Amino acid sequence: MEDTIFNENRKLKRQLDNLLRRARTNEQKQALFDSFGFEVISANTPAQLRDYVLFQMQARFQLQDVVMCLIDFDHDTERLFYGHDTDAKLMYESKLIILDTKADKEKISSLNKHPVLGVEVLSQYKWMYEKLEDIDSCNSAALLPLMRNNQIIGTLLLLSRDVNRYQTGIGTTFLQKLSAMTAVAIENCLNQQRIKEIGYQDPLTQAYNRRYFDLRFTDEIERSLRQGDNLACMFLDVDFFKKVNDTYGHHVGDLVLTHLVSLIKEQVRACDIVARYGGEEFAVVLPGVSLERATEIAQRLRKAVEVDTRLTCGQGGLNVTVSIGLEILTAINDKSLNTEQIGALLLQNADHALYQAKEYGRNQVVIFKELNS
Ligand code: GH3
Ligand code: MG
Ligand code: MG
Repeated sequence: MEDTIFNENRKLKRQLDNLLRRARTNEQKQALFDSFGFEVISANTPAQLRDYVLFQMQARFQLQDVVMCLIDFDHDTERLFYGHDTDAKLMYESKLIILDTKADKEKISSLNKHPVLGVEVLSQYKWMYEKLEDIDSCNSAALLPLMRNNQIIGTLLLLSRDVNRYQTGIGTTFLQKLSAMTAVAIENCLNQQRIKEIGYQDPLTQAYNRRYFDLRFTDEIERSLRQGDNLACMFLDVDFFKKVNDTYGHHVGDLVLTHLVSLIKEQVRACDIVARYGGEEFAVVLPGVSLERATEIAQRLRKAVEVDTRLTCGQGGLNVTVSIGLEILTAINDKSLNTEQIGALLLQNADHALYQAKEYGRNQVVIFKELNS
């Protein structure tokens, strides 16, 4: 009799110990998810968020890898996430997947709010992670939908080597909390970045404004100097713009400037800086571009403006043309100059070249170097 009670007690004690251990583990898990969730929410820039979600989450939860998919038809999110950082884009390409077509969106829309767990995620969603290294050692996965206002905005794929880590039927409260916080963080961060960009944009033409130009220009020069790269700087001014205003009115003048900027943007890469420097004067900076290539681009741009029908005002009227001055970083050899001074000289030389282009009769490209030879 005593033996039976003793055994019963031992059994109960063991059950109690197990429950306590489980409660403690859950508490730790909860604390880990909470602290990470708060960090993600506090990310100030898309770059920081990218780092939290794609790298720190992996380390913190001992995962093999993390992949994020985001629906982004306009490539707006992609631009905000990478900015002008082409290195980051290369680094994250296999971990951040942009879904930019309706068909792509369909591939995740069946997820419908709840996480999917287990090995079948691996076979069903292979396209999400096949660009990663060492994919054969993924043995289980959790796919979490990222929801905002009842709409799916993307997914988070957590990959583990441990086949038992994510199984169908296990509790998903923590994972749901994590994905909810991530979704809020993405939205917040991108909105903050958009607001910041508005302050950097010229409202009429959507080109960057002078404030942004000054910030980025120095950064780009510093980076080019560090990496031993070239950088081309163009100054572009509309020819006889006053006549456009006088003949067709200020409103048409405004339209011309807006069209001109979209034309410039069509001719350059996303990583190049197109800024409105003054009234009808634009600066275009092309990092990593040689003089030869910059000349080709400037000529192509000049020609594109000349023939663009959007820039033809009235019947048989004015055809808008531009003059372009060009200077490159490697032409500046004075080792005593600091980055700001190099930037100022680059601009000054490009401006001199532009002045010369006007003198030569407009609608042409002049390279600063030519003035000295
Ligand atoms: P050039 O070929 O020598 O550059 O001649 P230009 O007529 O283009 O040069 P000028 O500097 O004499 O005139 C520039 C004109 O640009 C004068 C100004 O009213 C106009 N302008 C500046 N900003 C704006 C703007 O935002 N909208 C419009 N419509 N006109 C503008
Ligand atoms: Mg002008
Ligand atoms: Mg001018």
